[in-house]
Amino acid sequence: MTRVAVIGAAGRMGATVCAAVVADARTELVAAVDPTVAGTPLAVAPSVVAVAPADAPEVLASSGAEVVVDFTAPSVVLDNASVAAAAGCHLVIGTTGLGADGLSALASLYPPEGSLGCVVAANFAIGAVLSMRFAEMAAPWFETAEIIELHHDRKVDAPSGTALRTAERMAAASSTWADDPTQSTVVAGARGGVAAGGIRVHSVRLRGLVAHQEVLLGTTGETLTIRHDSLDRASFMPGVLLAVTQVASGAWPGLTVGIDAFLGL
Ligand code: NAD
Repeated sequence: MTRVAVIGAAGRMGATVCAAVVADARTELVAAVDPTVAGTPLAVAPSVVAVAPADAPEVLASSGAEVVVDFTAPSVVLDNASVAAAAGCHLVIGTTGLGADGLSALASLYPPEGSLGCVVAANFAIGAVLSMRFAEMAAPWFETAEIIELHHDRKVDAPSGTALRTAERMAAASSTWADDPTQSTVVAGARGGVAAGGIRVHSVRLRGLVAHQEVLLGTTGETLTIRHDSLDRASFMPGVLLAVTQVASGAWPGLTVGIDAFLGL
């Protein structure tokens, strides 16, 4: 069984990951890090007592963790990655909002010539991964596209990592995007933010939602809408566990962005 430590273990995602790791026969939860529950045994695994971030280096070593899973915040994820790399652990990061500089920092911590792997995915839901691929495939056939991402009202970063990654992939797949026709913006931000390729991204934050995205593509006389809905955080768990088991196999040294390769996409 793969020995897993979860950083951000008390968060919405981290707690779901802890439960999924405990429930899966291929994985064992051996450590949990989160300042809000430090010193408390986890309800899903009472033998695991959560520790504060300062104690993470010690607990990763003493627990024999092989893979660290991080669902925290952009402000702390690189510090956590340094601790995981120093402890000789593979790393699976679901935290979003890292940016290009963050990815380069991770590539330095997890070099391809080393034996450790780091997987960073803006979205672990299989349907979301497929929808990004579909958007990339559709991009060359449409001149206009906009992305609407919709999330729960406690999400701290905007736009979502999934929306940014979707735009990047669509922009890389096509260079024939039409210019924006807007000449006057009456309410600032009405046309959304500009992501890769000039693709507009609109972020909705609404109580009751989980994680949703629509990619709208238009060309003469037709439109295509690609929509994905994560209705429950359980939707991310098969992808997280796939990343954990793949990276633990040692077959993916260095930095892997997205889980597409694990799905054969
Ligand atoms: P959350 O606020 O519920 O949880 C974050 C947790 O991290 C909190 O419990 C907090 O105490 C803890 N934390 C903060 N600093 C820490 C540190 N230094 N060490 C250890 N723990 C620390 O947030 P959430 O909704 O669970 O989301 C977490 C991240 O996951 C966000 O970036 C979100 O965008 C991302 N996310 C990614 C996916 C995906 O599929 N990749 C899906 C959903 C959410």
